[in-house]
Amino acid sequence: MSELAKYQMYIGGEWVDPVGGEWFDSFNPYTGQPWARMPRGGEADVDRAVTAADDAFSGGDWPALSPSQRGALLRRLGDLIAENAQSLAEIEVRDNGKLIAEMAAQLSYVPQWYYYFGGLADKIEGAVIPIDKPETFNYTRHEPLGVVAAISPWNSPLLLATWKLAPALAAGNTVVLKPSEFTSASTLEFVKLFEQAGFPPGVVNIITGFGHEAGAALVSHPKVAKVAFTGGEMTGQKVYQAAAVGLKPVTLELGGKSPNIVFDDTAMENAVKGVISGIFAATGQTCIAGSRLLVQNSIHNEFVDRLVDFAATARMGDPQSMDTQVGPVTTLPQMEKILGYIDIAKDEGAECVLGGHRAQRPECGEGWFVEPTVFTGVRNDMRIAREEVFGPVLSVIPFDDEEDAIAIANDNPYGLAAGVWTQSIKRAIEVSNRLQAGTVWVNTYRAVSYLSPFGGYKRSGLGRESGKQAIMDYLQTKSVWISTSDEVPNPFILR
Ligand code: NAD
Repeated sequence: MSELAKYQMYIGGEWVDPVGGEWFDSFNPYTGQPWARMPRGGEADVDRAVTAADDAFSGGDWPALSPSQRGALLRRLGDLIAENAQSLAEIEVRDNGKLIAEMAAQLSYVPQWYYYFGGLADKIEGAVIPIDKPETFNYTRHEPLGVVAAISPWNSPLLLATWKLAPALAAGNTVVLKPSEFTSASTLEFVKLFEQAGFPPGVVNIITGFGHEAGAALVSHPKVAKVAFTGGEMTGQKVYQAAAVGLKPVTLELGGKSPNIVFDDTAMENAVKGVISGIFAATGQTCIAGSRLLVQNSIHNEFVDRLVDFAATARMGDPQSMDTQVGPVTTLPQMEKILGYIDIAKDEGAECVLGGHRAQRPECGEGWFVEPTVFTGVRNDMRIAREEVFGPVLSVIPFDDEEDAIAIANDNPYGLAAGVWTQSIKRAIEVSNRLQAGTVWVNTYRAVSYLSPFGGYKRSGLGRESGKQAIMDYLQTKSVWISTSDEVPNPFILR
């Protein structure tokens, strides 16, 4: 067997081996074979990285930069990402199996976050407060927090890291980023661009390793001032608890069980495409997957027939091919989890009308593929309707009218996103207002932008990423009081 590429971690501007001297394999989900070795970072590595980030925050070149200069660095970085988008996309595809068509487009879009937050860096203004006391001048400043621990999942490593890095750096913080143990390669390639752009050493550091080791040590490190996490709900709870011990602010972007609601006045063909894109694009491995299809009874059978016919034509196979429409599942445990949920749905009495098993197509080889799967006859209280599968498995739930649709949609612990398909503007607005979700798409699905806030209601998370308000989660506000009086009056009373 040929030698696997062996990676190092990036700490304080240097490429370093893990202190423990151990590496682990990273797999290509299309072949099911290991292709690279990742450093197994532990507590000592985390301490080194956080110390480097803390040093870079407290002294040296980074805090001496003006916000405009920080913005210029971020914009330079954006240009470098644009130049390298294709090669970064290819690494992500090899490591996580998402389609090259999707990843190339995603990475061409990633620079926008650095341009946008780079532009925002010197527009964070405090206020002069018209204070109600004589001879007193009061103003506010928004200051960075310090070292940010950023933790990303495996499904879109660079996009989701970017949602944290761009506002955190624009605000003047330093960052230690830990990518998922399943997909660390692209992050380690990506960080080279920070060096090329001219970021001072220690401003961005990458630790690789397992969640319960490197991840847990990072969140708990006393010099970490804030935690920005994207991942599963259970991990999010652990991260929240660990952060609470140090009273650290957190941003949590967690899972979802998003309803895609199709009313009988919809443009049927568009809605079919929208539902497909919600659940089978990215092999259903997106937090915003529209995994519950709520369809009005009056069109239920026709809609399901059309949907199944369309989904059955999906081309599976090599994710590096531009023709492929459904790629492999990123990890072996994830494939087993998806197949487990398919069994659960069958046991619960749902009817499998498409797929329902591991893909055996020749073009899928030994890869970790699951057939696009559709269940009808799903009740909203079944596990397949309540729990996040994170795979290409759609649950179809019929509804009678608007009230019924809203009740079913909101009857779930998650609240990340929702889709509404209707030709009625009145219905679009009324239903959107009543849905408990951080994002509602009407007659579209799976659209995101650096300009628009993204985040969850209920158990889907805390805080927002993207959009202007995201930067405030990486700042703290100081109120400065200046007396212009010639004397200090009675010292025994509150001023
Ligand atoms: P995960 O929770 O297993 O892991 C996420 C990250 O947390 C990884 O880097 C992991 O190593 C780390 N981690 C694990 N245990 C930790 C601990 N105790 N302390 C600190 N870090 C720890 O999630 P995943 O399987 O990589 O990703 C899939 C999940 O992410 C899904 O639930 C999905 O919905 C969610 N997700 C949410 C969004 C969003 O924006 N809301 C986006 C993408 C994915």
